[in-house]
Amino acid sequence: MVHPGLNLRCRTMNYRIITSMLSILLLAAACRSDKSSNNKTSSPDRAPQSVTIPAFNRDSAYAFVQAQVDFGPRNMGSEAHKACKDWIVAKLKSYDLQVAEQNFPAAIYTNEVFPGTNIIGKINPDHPRRIVLAAHWDTRFMAEKDAKAEDRDKPILGADDGASGVGVLLEIARTIKDHPIDMGIDLVFFDAEDQGDNGGEKETWCLGSQFWAANLSAQNRPQYGILLDMVGAKGATFPKEAISLNFANGVLEKVWSLGQSMGYGGYFSNERVNQLVDDHLFVNQVGLPMIDIINYKNGFGHYHHTQSDNMEIIDRNTLRAVGQVVLAVLYKESVGAI
Ligand SMILES: [Zn+2]
Repeated sequence: MVHPGLNLRCRTMNYRIITSMLSILLLAAACRSDKSSNNKTSSPDRAPQSVTIPAFNRDSAYAFVQAQVDFGPRNMGSEAHKACKDWIVAKLKSYDLQVAEQNFPAAIYTNEVFPGTNIIGKINPDHPRRIVLAAHWDTRFMAEKDAKAEDRDKPILGADDGASGVGVLLEIARTIKDHPIDMGIDLVFFDAEDQGDNGGEKETWCLGSQFWAANLSAQNRPQYGILLDMVGAKGATFPKEAISLNFANGVLEKVWSLGQSMGYGGYFSNERVNQLVDDHLFVNQVGLPMIDIINYKNGFGHYHHTQSDNMEIIDRNTLRAVGQVVLAVLYKESVGAI
């Protein structure tokens, strides 16, 4: 299944593919990044106003991460997967979002087919100006990078790789319920992101986002998107990743410069890294600019795809840094102040 000698930065593509992909991406970036950076000037009738940005509650976000981990590993086909889906749906409904479950057959590379569900929650569903925030809610079915051979066939808890992004999105939904916003926001929880083949095609990953992107309606389409993946670990670093840079440069720069101006430059780094195959790739490929906030520094964290991806590596301060910056983006965007 997994080559034991591989340095498994699992979703990092090999150099040859990166080189050829980059030349294509750079061509695409020439027009697409312009488009994304023009977003902020697309409504010249809206004069920038000051806006109050609510505080992001790190303890509540942490509790949302804990609640998912408490279900156990949420790999495809498991009871915990189904229970967690129902819990996310119920949470979103409790915060008054319009919720839909987008079902699809998740055919993973092992030749198994599982029921997959993207969960889509809408805030101000009829608002014409929209941003999409996304995370994956499934967790990996094996721990191929674990030091203990006997633990590698077991599914992981995915406290960071899955639960952290979902936890931040749920806390954003909870916050907005009490602080109405003049902006449409789609929260999308992708399924079957993390069941891919390390040595295989990139399309073996991110099955939910591929399905969502392929079925994206032109009506009320978001202007851009922000993906959160592994946003809760102690000492996380979020670099400027190549797909985000090439397809959604304007979005990336405004989010990173805002994050740095808010004092979170220790997380939002100016370091550039090669592309990481993640849900945002497939969303960008259908012309919707989406950046990825993902913990990566000389590789993924030590816990990545191991049994150590548990609550011990989660830090409330990291969750807050990400959640507070994303909230600031949303509220500033709502008044044209970014
Ligand atoms: Zn993963």
